[in-house]
Amino acid sequence: MIKRLSSTIVIVVIVLGGVFWFVNSGQGGKTSQHDKLQIVATNSIIGNMVEEVGGDKVNLHTIVPRGTDPHEYEPKPQDVVASQEADILFHNGLNLETGGSGWFKKMYKNAGKQIDQQVFSVSKGVVAKRLTDKGKENELDPHAWLDLQNGIKYVKNIEKVLIAKDPENATTYKKRTAEYVKKLSVLDQSAKTKFDSIPEDKKLLVTSEGAFKYFSAAYGITPAFIWEINTESQGTPEQMRQVLTKIDATNVPVLFLESSVSPKTMEKLSKETGLPIYSKIYTDSLAKKGQNADTYYGMMKWNLDKISAGLSQ
Ligand SMILES: [Zn+2]
Repeated sequence: MIKRLSSTIVIVVIVLGGVFWFVNSGQGGKTSQHDKLQIVATNSIIGNMVEEVGGDKVNLHTIVPRGTDPHEYEPKPQDVVASQEADILFHNGLNLETGGSGWFKKMYKNAGKQIDQQVFSVSKGVVAKRLTDKGKENELDPHAWLDLQNGIKYVKNIEKVLIAKDPENATTYKKRTAEYVKKLSVLDQSAKTKFDSIPEDKKLLVTSEGAFKYFSAAYGITPAFIWEINTESQGTPEQMRQVLTKIDATNVPVLFLESSVSPKTMEKLSKETGLPIYSKIYTDSLAKKGQNADTYYGMMKWNLDKISAGLSQ
């Protein structure tokens, strides 16, 4: 009996030792304490893309909560802990997480993580647009994901990193990515057809922040905004004058309000122009879970549907 028990223990020890060795070797980056990749995403949009590619093979921590501005953010203790434990940290890059004197960089440096080893920009390979305000022309515009073709690039970048860090699950990541990219491409094509039928003099997209440069280029409309980026001053008299001039030069029928900014300035613009705010739209954050725009696909579909319907009024 004792002999049988001790040989069972020997077998258990060998098996456990083997598992431990397997987890620690050749897995391209999974930490020994976890059997799933530990991933941190800076915001809900990137987080959702990671879920779409990684499915149940990854553990995800998203930093900036839904409905909150990702330009400027103060990381919470749980964000710091998740970053320390992470195998991968995904950020947008292109100047998004640089507000508050660079909250994201501070965080991953403190966690001992490094660019291209654990820290990856999902916008790699995107043709970047620049800000247009005077004195800002050398700064990048971060909002590339609002063009679905760029979103697809983000997804493929995420796929590449997950496969490199966790080759064991490569087949799953490839399959999930292929299906997801197909769904996004179909949405992109149908939106382009919709926007083609809107009269040219109505194709002005008026929002609070100038987040729609990539979107506007993709869907053939002109963007107009009160302030250019959420990290700077918002709604000055000069900014109001400029957007009013643009509105007056067109027959644009409606205005739009982003979910992650204060409505005050857009409400003021609505009063001054007599144009209604047609709908809330999503730029820097997904909607709360359970709502229509609670995924990247859902958010893009919502934006494309609302904007095309609003401008067609
Ligand atoms: Zn923004």
